[in-house]
Amino acid sequence: MTAKHVPDPSSSSQHQLPEHNAGQDEPGQPNAGQPISGQHVQGQRIAASAGESQHVAIVGGGVVGIACAHYLNLRGYRVTVIDRGRVGGGCSHGNCGYVSPSHALPLAEPGAIFSTIKAMLKPNPPLRIRPGLNLHLWKWLWNFSRRCNETDWIESGHAIHPLLTESMQLYGDLIRDYQLDCEWTKQGLLFVYKNQHAFQAYAPIDEMLRRDFNEPARRMSASELLDFEPGLQEDVAGAWYFEHDAHLRPARLVASWRDSLQSRGVAFVENQSLESIEESGGNATRVSLSSQQVTADHVVIATGAWTPLLEKILRFRAPIQPGKGYSITMPRPEGCPRTPMILPERKVAVTPWGSELRLGSMMEFIGYDSAISKKRLGLLTQAAADYLKCKLPESFSETWYGWRPMTYDSTPIIGRCPGFSNVFLACGHNMLGLSMAPATGRMIAELVSGEPTSIQTRPYQAERFIA
Ligand SMILES: Cc1cc2nc3c(=O)[nH]c(=O)nc-3n(C[C@H](O)[C@H](O)[C@H](O)COP(=O)(O)OP(=O)(O)OC[C@H]3O[C@@H](n4cnc5c(N)ncnc54)[C@H](O)[C@@H]3O)c2cc1C
Repeated sequence: MTAKHVPDPSSSSQHQLPEHNAGQDEPGQPNAGQPISGQHVQGQRIAASAGESQHVAIVGGGVVGIACAHYLNLRGYRVTVIDRGRVGGGCSHGNCGYVSPSHALPLAEPGAIFSTIKAMLKPNPPLRIRPGLNLHLWKWLWNFSRRCNETDWIESGHAIHPLLTESMQLYGDLIRDYQLDCEWTKQGLLFVYKNQHAFQAYAPIDEMLRRDFNEPARRMSASELLDFEPGLQEDVAGAWYFEHDAHLRPARLVASWRDSLQSRGVAFVENQSLESIEESGGNATRVSLSSQQVTADHVVIATGAWTPLLEKILRFRAPIQPGKGYSITMPRPEGCPRTPMILPERKVAVTPWGSELRLGSMMEFIGYDSAISKKRLGLLTQAAADYLKCKLPESFSETWYGWRPMTYDSTPIIGRCPGFSNVFLACGHNMLGLSMAPATGRMIAELVSGEPTSIQTRPYQAERFIA
C-alpha cells in the first residue's frame, strides 16, 4: 500500500467546532440517538473512534462526496457536506445508472483520434469538440491524444478496474445494510449491434477483458438475443452480455443515501459555494463559503467537473474538462426492453426502470455550456426508434445535461491535494463516477484517518500531473 497520509497531530484546529450562522443546525454533529461505534463495513468492524471530535468539510454533494461522507461517518468523523446548489444536483442526477465493472477500458483507446475525426464529419455526431480559444482544452486534447495507444489504454484500465470491482461489492453491502431505496438491480448489461461486422469486431476486446480483467461477456447470436430481450427489433446482428453488471436510479440513490447519512448525524449545507480555504503552513483550518464559514480538521474536494475552477483556492489545476452528456427520461412505454443496454453503433445507453425509461448519450467538449438543444436530444430518440420495438411517449418527464469530470488519462484524482497536508481531492471520475463512488469514498476515509488503504493509491495521486 502506498502514500498513506497521517493526519497532522499538531493541527491547531483540531477539536474546534465548526462555525455556522446563528439559527442554523450545527453541521456534522453525530445523532445522539444513533451510536456510530463499531459499525460493520465489508466484513470488518470499524472502530468509530478514529475521527472522534474531528470535523471534515466535504465540498461537493454528488455521489462521490456522499460516498466520502459515508465512510468518514463510519469512522466517527463529524462530517458536513457543502454544495453550491442542491445536493445531488450535478452530474450524479440524470446519468444512466450503470454500475459497470465491465467498463474497465477507457475512452482513450487506440485509433480513437481517427474514429473521432471520422465521426465528427457526420451531421449531428454524438461526439463534439469546440476548443475555440480555450487553451486548457487544447492542452487536455493533446494529452488525451498521446494516450490513445494500447499501453496507456490498458494501464488506465488497470488503474480504474479495482475501483470498479470494489465498488460493485461495496454497493451490495451498502444497499443491504442501509436499505438505500434506489431500484438496485443486478441484471447485467447488453452491448447490442445491428451491423454484423461491428458485432464481430468486438470479439478481440472481449478477449482482452476476459484475459486481463476477468470481465467476460457472453456472446449472443441474433436469435438468442431476441429470445432473451424481446423488446428489440428483429434486424439485430447480436449482442455481448455482461451479466455481472448492475443498474440503479442515480437520483434516488443520492437522495436515499443523504437521508441515511442525515439520520446518522451528517450535516448538509446547500446553496453555498466554496470561496476560499484558510490555512496555516499548508494545513487547512477553515473553509469560507458564500455566506458562512466552517472550521475543519480535514477538507475533501469532491466538486466533479467544477474542480479546475477552484485552481486559485487549491493552487493546483486539476486537468479536468467538462464532458457534456444528455439524457431524457420518460414514462415506461408498453413493450419497453427489460434489460439495460448500450447501442455502441449510436453511442446511446438505454436504462429501463420500474416506471420509467432513460436514454442517455453524447460527449461534448465545449466548455461549461448549459444549453439543451432539441436537435441533440433527437439523437437519443432516433436511436431508440431504430433499435427498440416500443413506441416512445410523446412527452418526457425530464430532459437533462450533465458535465462529466473528464481527466485526459481516464483515471480519477483521489488523494492529498499538493501543497496541503489535510485537503484531499476526490474528483475526475470521468464516465464512471457512479460505478466508482463507494471505493473512492472508502479510500478517502482511509487516507484521512491514516489507515492502510484497501486499494493501491498511486495511480490516482494528483502528483502524476505535476511535471
Ligand atoms: C449522460 C451521462 C450518463 C452517465 N452514465 C453513467 C453511468 O451509467 N454510470 C456511471 O458510473 N457514471 C455515469 N456517468 C458519469 C457520472 O454521472 C459522473 O462520473 C459522476 O456523477 C460524477 O460524480 P461527482 O460526485 O464527482 O460529480 P457531481 O455529481 O457533478 O457533483 C459535484 C458537486 O460539486 C458541487 N460543486 C461544484 N463546485 C462547487 C463549489 N465551488 N462549492 C460547493 N459545491 C460545488 C456541484 O454543485 C455538484 O453538486 C454519466 C454521465 C453522463 C453525463
